[in-house]
Amino acid sequence: MNVLRPTLLLDLDRTLLDTDRFYNAVWTFLEAKYQVDLPAELARAKSFFHYQGELYDYDFRTHLRSLGLDPEQIKKQFLDHYGEESFVFPDAQAALALQSDYTLEILTYGSNWYQLFKLAACAELAALKMTIILESKAVYLQHKYLVGRTILVDDKPLAGYSDVEWPEHVEFIWLNRALDQPVLRSNKGVAIKSLIQLKSVLGRE
Ligand SMILES: [Mg+2]
Repeated sequence: MNVLRPTLLLDLDRTLLDTDRFYNAVWTFLEAKYQVDLPAELARAKSFFHYQGELYDYDFRTHLRSLGLDPEQIKKQFLDHYGEESFVFPDAQAALALQSDYTLEILTYGSNWYQLFKLAACAELAALKMTIILESKAVYLQHKYLVGRTILVDDKPLAGYSDVEWPEHVEFIWLNRALDQPVLRSNKGVAIKSLIQLKSVLGRE
């Protein structure tokens, strides 16, 4: 029997992945191994951001090359160095536990190389399909043919996707880690403080 399962789309950066911790770890590694000038490079990083309205991606590969470093070598050395360390938020396990009832996929915005580097540092997520886009998720999902119930969980609020109307066939759950209560329901939708609340919120939608 082929039962159509709902699709649960999960954002990567700051939703599943502790991006700030990953970013700091990469630069701390580069400082220790290659004596890069950390404050100077962190300040310079913004010149490798490519903006599309409010969206931006970081061309980390070009930044590394500008320092005379080989991006592929850095990626390998970093992954070897950090080996067992996980950069996934602990509450991501609560989302992964939904795999028995939902088809889980990662939907992420950014440059291909950098997003794949981040994913490679997250062994727990290796089995998930990841789609990397360079357009707003609202635009992408509006034009994508979706079958069955589809939900997106993202740390970026719906207001951040105001470039086009949010596709009404895609439910949106805002992961707001700064929330002062576990779940907040308003006329703007549902916000959760942690991925731990995901299961109960999905069941009630
Ligand atoms: Mg994000």
